[in-house]
Amino acid sequence: MAKLIKELSVFLPAYNEAENLEKTVANVISNLKRVADKYELIIVNDGSKDTTQKVAEKLAAKDKNIRIISHPVNRGYGAAFKSGLYNAKYDWISFIDADGQFNFEEIDQFIDTEQRTSADLIIGYYRERRVTWLRKLNSFAWQTVVDVLFGLKVRDIDCGFKLISKTVVDKIPKLESERGAFISSEFLIKAKKHNFKIEQIPVHHYPRKAGEATGAKLNVIIKSFVDLFKLWKKLS
Ligand code: UDP
Ligand code: MG
Repeated sequence: MAKLIKELSVFLPAYNEAENLEKTVANVISNLKRVADKYELIIVNDGSKDTTQKVAEKLAAKDKNIRIISHPVNRGYGAAFKSGLYNAKYDWISFIDADGQFNFEEIDQFIDTEQRTSADLIIGYYRERRVTWLRKLNSFAWQTVVDVLFGLKVRDIDCGFKLISKTVVDKIPKLESERGAFISSEFLIKAKKHNFKIEQIPVHHYPRKAGEATGAKLNVIIKSFVDLFKLWKKLS
């Protein structure tokens, strides 16, 4: 029987995810085998200080479809995102966080939505986001600023589960954001400017079981706003 999609690259940004990586990789690979004729999985080790690299090497040694990109030092989610995105080789590219907060089984709904709507980007939004209320308030404020400055109104800009056509990536060869979370907004703002079609679908979100969340750290928030105003100045 034909599989759901011909080819699919997946990348996992990973910073200090030694305790979560193996499970996430198993989850992604078992579903990739099921849905894609050809696939690759890229683990982006963003300068982890724990044994993420070792775990990644062990997994890659067992499966030729798994590749590792290592940053010598930690550069932030934006940089990890770019390394994954620009090194993915197949026509369709997806990503989830390495921390186990998503279930890659839900890729089926992304592929189905793409095939029904011919969207170029299918982006997830949280059915129920498993984080604190303060974090939710943060995101609300952040999204309001992005909406006011750039006219980008989506349900969850930063949701870490998306499916993207390589044609979109090829049209956006230079993303600037490194440290903070602005990369997701920057990517969507630029995709929208090129008139690519965006669809949104709900995904489940699970609590982090191990390791440490970085998204609410002060330096990450500050850097996100710095990147945001840089792009705003450039475009205005
Ligand atoms: N991450 C990364 N580099 C960083 C910080 C985070 O590659 O400097 C990865 C992290 O390992 C995870 C994903 O990006 O897979 C999302 O990060 P995190 O879970 O800390 O964000 P949150 O859930 O708090 O938004
Ligand atoms: Mg997380």
